[in-house]
Amino acid sequence: MNSLLLTGGQVVDPANKFDSIADVLILEGKISAIGKKLSAPAGVETFDAKGKIVSPGLIDLHVHFREPGQTAKENIATGTAAAARGGFTSVVCMPNTSPAIDSAGTVALIHERAREQGIVNVFVTGAITKSIAGEELAPIGGLKKAGVIAITDDGHCVQNNELMRRACEYAKMFDLPIFDHCQDYSLVTEGVMHEGYWSLALGLRGWPAAGEEMIVARNILLAELTGAKIHCQHLSAARSVELIREAKKRGVSISGEACPHHFTLTDSAVAGSEKFWADDGKILAPTQAAELPAWPAYDTNFKMNPPLRSAKDREAILAGLADGTIDILCSDHAPHCDYEKEVEFDYAPFGITGLEIELALSLMQLVHTKRLSLADMIAKFTVNPARLLNLGKGTLSVGADADVTVFDLEQEWVYNREGSASKSKNNPFFGWKLKGKAVATIVGGRTVWSEQNELACV
Ligand SMILES: [Zn+2]
Repeated sequence: MNSLLLTGGQVVDPANKFDSIADVLILEGKISAIGKKLSAPAGVETFDAKGKIVSPGLIDLHVHFREPGQTAKENIATGTAAAARGGFTSVVCMPNTSPAIDSAGTVALIHERAREQGIVNVFVTGAITKSIAGEELAPIGGLKKAGVIAITDDGHCVQNNELMRRACEYAKMFDLPIFDHCQDYSLVTEGVMHEGYWSLALGLRGWPAAGEEMIVARNILLAELTGAKIHCQHLSAARSVELIREAKKRGVSISGEACPHHFTLTDSAVAGSEKFWADDGKILAPTQAAELPAWPAYDTNFKMNPPLRSAKDREAILAGLADGTIDILCSDHAPHCDYEKEVEFDYAPFGITGLEIELALSLMQLVHTKRLSLADMIAKFTVNPARLLNLGKGTLSVGADADVTVFDLEQEWVYNREGSASKSKNNPFFGWKLKGKAVATIVGGRTVWSEQNELACV
């Protein structure tokens, strides 16, 4: 069944500046009509979307599905199940797998797995350098031919500026955006959390904000020099936002993304829940009512790269999202096994899962707080990433692929381990009371997940 009539929802399609109560008719996997009082042709099911938001299918351009090579953490089946549950119809996989996605063969393997086991659209990025070792360029033309939609060494950062310049020139030649995980190794060294008061108090090695900002500045200069489209991943620091804001004003082809953990939490979370709620958690406390979620100091589910930063940095990320400096929202969904995270803070891998809660956290921090209109937030999950990547998605235009997300703005719910479809459970938000939730995820006209019928998958 790839035809459906969604009735009576608030349809918000930023690409077409459309925001109105309307019906959406899907026929054979494509958007067929949007309007009032549409009727379903014979045999086409109806979905009552009254009181809900009907948006173009959400796109997450930054996920790690660990396939091939690390499928104890996640695979395409479980990763796409988590995506569907979070309201995402398309995801973009990072290439830091084992082996890395640096050859046409690996790209083909993922495409095949995605066709067989994926329940949402899976797009693939290729590595900038062979084995993501930062030494020699990967065959960028061959990767493009194999179907990658961007190149990145995510998880790592090309340190050699000359090599990065050449990568930018190839990326431009092949019309691929180049994503960068901004981290200057000489500044960050062995840092495990934001360098500041809390790293000192907790005796943990610091990862200074300048370690990110330095590479953001480098990328701006290289974008100017080469004309390549450079996209800075998971921005966490205040000066990164300032640098991009200023560069965009000059028309530089630079963009940025932010993840909910960076604009919800701060480094005080690493010192335990008491410190967090007392110091930096106040902007969230009303949503959490009387019982605040609790966790101990040195909880490795608060370890990510780049790290949680100060309240000032968090505010700057929120401001950057509000004024359009940061175009794109994403999760950096990074699954790890329990046994890997259940070690001393220094030894735990960086990263958390995020696909199932990023919509709720973004609504809470951006829309419910009135920092951003609903349409502007939806744009950062739909048309903006689609345009950057030339996906031809992210809109409900008639004739477009019928990827649609239906969500409830006001629904309050508690995220818990049992409710997660991801293979890994490394998430700091279990036990949190969230506001806003996907209720149905429709890919190419087929309902791949719905709250009503958790078993509706394929
Ligand atoms: Zn990264």
